[in-house]
Amino acid sequence: MDTSRKRWLASFSLLIAFVLAANGGYLQGATPQAVNPGFNFEGIEAFWTIATVLESDTEPSEAQWKAFFAAPGYERLADEFGRSYFQNALRAVFMPSQGDLEAEMVRTYAERGGFLGWYTPLVIDGFREASENREWMAGRVRELKTHPYLEEAAGYALEYLPDEAVDAYPAVNFVVFNDSRGYTPLIMGITGDDLAPSDLECLERQGHDRHLPFLLLMAHESFHMYRGQEMEIELPEPGHPDYALLWTLDQMTNEGIGDLIHRKRLYYGDGCMAGTERAAGMHREQLAQPATIRIVDAILSEMAAEPDVAGMLGGQLQSFVPQSGHPTGFFMANLIEEELGTGAIRDVVRNPFEFFKLYNQAALENGEAPVFSPEAMAYLANLQEKHSIVAEGR
Ligand SMILES: [Zn+2]
Repeated sequence: MDTSRKRWLASFSLLIAFVLAANGGYLQGATPQAVNPGFNFEGIEAFWTIATVLESDTEPSEAQWKAFFAAPGYERLADEFGRSYFQNALRAVFMPSQGDLEAEMVRTYAERGGFLGWYTPLVIDGFREASENREWMAGRVRELKTHPYLEEAAGYALEYLPDEAVDAYPAVNFVVFNDSRGYTPLIMGITGDDLAPSDLECLERQGHDRHLPFLLLMAHESFHMYRGQEMEIELPEPGHPDYALLWTLDQMTNEGIGDLIHRKRLYYGDGCMAGTERAAGMHREQLAQPATIRIVDAILSEMAAEPDVAGMLGGQLQSFVPQSGHPTGFFMANLIEEELGTGAIRDVVRNPFEFFKLYNQAALENGEAPVFSPEAMAYLANLQEKHSIVAEGR
């Protein structure tokens, strides 16, 4: 390269450096955007703003609530749970004069049963935990601005997807909440550190670091997003007679495989949290899943025999399958992985009907796990034809 060209390049690079620096210091590694593009922390800021008002035992004004529910992440969660649900949970935790509200909320939803019956105490505990861990929360946000979570999470998610690579990283709205959601953008809730010193020691011994649990949770949610980009079946509209059943089958597939990414690695086998109380609960829960599967099989067989009431039975199946499909789906996905390998799962990941077929194959090989009956499988085969997006024959 001749010198004049070199000189031209040098001044050109200098010009670029100047332009980038003028545009917000990108060159000095404005790390938040550079490391995890699409991370949004406005929800967390909005949470502390409303919590501060409530802590002074003042009911926030309509405008203040409005600002809270307009924050990225909470806006979507409010659609799901309703505003007053959040308002009450926040009042219960933060308003000194609302000491009885928590017990009242927990009791009311427990009596009504269903999802919010078991979920409400978790929501309230999550807000309380966050309140007790403010400094830790601030530290976590700083970490989220500097550690390459998205790239690493995509790697873990891809282990369970047929895709070779991801073409984009998910946008993530962070909120203070006990749970996360695979919506677009993803919603990731944080409430506090549940990593004991012994867990950390174990993670380091295994060549990981303290980021792994959160990273895997993000991988689980990223998996939902990548999976949903290209499904092989189409869920009918709510109210359609097949909707409740298909929703349930899809949840079992989606959450079951998602939990292989996140829960299995941490809470089972030599996972660093396999000795925790939470893990013991999960293991116990797994013991009940063969029974759950037999009941699902019985309901499916009845649906096949009584098509007139199939829609109603599908609704009952939806409320019967625990925790929106997590433990039962995990039992099935884990059996497939153990008997047939991770590669087998990758092929059925976007098709709950194929997931059920593969489970049956794994259960036959296993010899002890319950096998779905020919009647149930024939019923599913019919539905598969009805709701497939791609042509039969994979
Ligand atoms: Zn999930």
